[in-house]
Amino acid sequence: MNQGRLLTNAERARRHLTSDTNCKICGGGPETTLHVVRDCPFARATWADLLEDEPDSRFFEQDGQRWSLYYLSGKSNTIDATIFAGTCWLLWKNQNDFVFQDKLKTHTQVQFHSKQLRDEIIKAFDQEKTVFGTGGTREQRLVGWQPPAQDWVCVNTDGSVNHSPESTSCGGIIRRSDGRFIRAFTANLGRGSITRAELAGIVYGLDLAWEQGVRKVLLQTDSATAKSLIENATEQHIHFSQISEIRRILQRDWTSIAGPLVLRTLAGGLEPLVCRPVCSITTLLHYSHLLPRNLDRLSRFVRPELLVRGNPLFLFIINLLRCFWS
Ligand SMILES: [Zn+2]
Repeated sequence: MNQGRLLTNAERARRHLTSDTNCKICGGGPETTLHVVRDCPFARATWADLLEDEPDSRFFEQDGQRWSLYYLSGKSNTIDATIFAGTCWLLWKNQNDFVFQDKLKTHTQVQFHSKQLRDEIIKAFDQEKTVFGTGGTREQRLVGWQPPAQDWVCVNTDGSVNHSPESTSCGGIIRRSDGRFIRAFTANLGRGSITRAELAGIVYGLDLAWEQGVRKVLLQTDSATAKSLIENATEQHIHFSQISEIRRILQRDWTSIAGPLVLRTLAGGLEPLVCRPVCSITTLLHYSHLLPRNLDRLSRFVRPELLVRGNPLFLFIINLLRCFWS
């Protein structure tokens, strides 16, 4: 993505990056954004399977503008906004993986991922819980929580920045695979960065699970930054002491340990579309420059914080909308 555009082959050709405007997957073309996310035979097969129970003849006929707005705003009874957004994203990602890394999934795999995302969101929505009880300062919604496979224990952690007074905190919850609650925790960390808070949450969460005798743990964090730091950071990093502490904990004698999960990041990205659809759509339209100026009233639903933490899915949709409307 570059300057608000999804860089399709057609776009790359226009910029003389390549002379080939055809789609790399089907050889047809030109490989426009709409081709990649809908009209390519690969994408068509994916959508057709998703629409199997209730065929929607208009789905493949609308122009990109109407199509994207109609399905994103949840007006369709056949495909809801989360599946729509998630599938567009997965198709787009699939195309990029193929073009740049020679990896190609089957459309059944893409479709499976898209349904998995949707299930994950629904589960999370059902299991919305208040973590901070007595003396707690805020409610926390655990998005994207997914029960781990049998006899695993799931540790969800999160960090947050509170602006008044300026301070950071972390929290988490430890549950068995059947959803039974083990422990929850929260800690005030004083001034600091969100990354430090995310990392602190992981340290507390894993340590607490260990103390409770847990030896098979699935760590879930929605912080892609924390995940990447745990995997890659070197001694020069300002949070290295925390990172190495996490690495030491991970090396303990756990029977098994998995995560942090990448999928959860994407499900977390879709979650606002389910829980706060009006804010989500208004925010997407606002940042895509599509919010009609005469509808000033709507601007109070714009939530910059939905993008603040670099929600990759929202950024993708904004780019997608800009492509169709410019
Ligand atoms: Zn194609």
